Amino acid sequence: MRLHKAESAFFVFIALVLSAGVLLFFAYGMQTRAVPRVAQDAAHTIDFARLLLTSGALLSVAIIFGLFFIYPLIRTQVREEGKLRAMTESLSARSKSLQHAALTDPLTGTQNRRFFDDALREYLLEFGRIEKPVGLMVLDLDHFKQVNDTYGHDVGDEVLRRVADCLKDLTRYHDVVARLGGEEFAIVAPNMNQDALVKLAERIRRAVSALTVDAGPARLKVTTSLGLAVWDGKETVDEFYRRADRMLYEAKRLGRNRVCA
Ligand code: GH3
Ligand code: MG
Ligand code: MG
Repeated sequence: MRLHKAESAFFVFIALVLSAGVLLFFAYGMQTRAVPRVAQDAAHTIDFARLLLTSGALLSVAIIFGLFFIYPLIRTQVREEGKLRAMTESLSARSKSLQHAALTDPLTGTQNRRFFDDALREYLLEFGRIEKPVGLMVLDLDHFKQVNDTYGHDVGDEVLRRVADCLKDLTRYHDVVARLGGEEFAIVAPNMNQDALVKLAERIRRAVSALTVDAGPARLKVTTSLGLAVWDGKETVDEFYRRADRMLYEAKRLGRNRVCA
């Protein structure tokens, strides 16, 4: 077993104190022992004084050793530990923020495609087990290319942020709102049946069409088309997503700014 510097120092300290203790014990024995002859008295007193002196010296060495060696060692260790803790904390905070960045869309602050894929798979698994419905909504802004072409990319970005805020405002805590890419969003709404999902989708459609975004002197409006599906309990994740996506294209085909389920 390899001893740490501080541990060795501690054992040296204990050895010094113990030795002093043993010497004091002898001195005590001498003091209490009856002295038979007067001739031995002087030698006895000298031995006694030597023992006391040596144990005093040992205790002094122990105290000096403790003060100038053990205590600084402890201080260094405490400082190093503090530094290590601070480093670990900053590393774990960094890894949390990296994790967050890896799963969040930087433009809108909604979840990204990667998070959406995992969340949808997990929700189907969990809700399939307890036989509760899972609703899925896929949204695509209408004629969004025109917004960019007419007002510029920055205004287009502002529209995406405003739409994302609107989706976050209208959904519940455990719904997943994600930007799948470009001007396409999706919402996973667990424990929501077809009727409730259609009602929510209509509310979202109306709220998006009521948004107004400042674009210089102009105020622009956008609309969105929505495709809905409620999991049938048997479909794979891909089949489920494709069904909602087909509904979205149906909504586009029927003239946009509408909900298809
Ligand atoms: P539709 O009604 O059929 O959906 O028409 P659309 O114009 O919305 O569809 P299209 O797919 O032709 O255009 C999508 C546009 O979205 C193209 C691109 O300029 C724009 N876009 C994609 N990503 C971003 C982005 O991050 N920021 C901005 N400002 N625009 C984006
Ligand atoms: Mg579009
Ligand atoms: Mg699109």
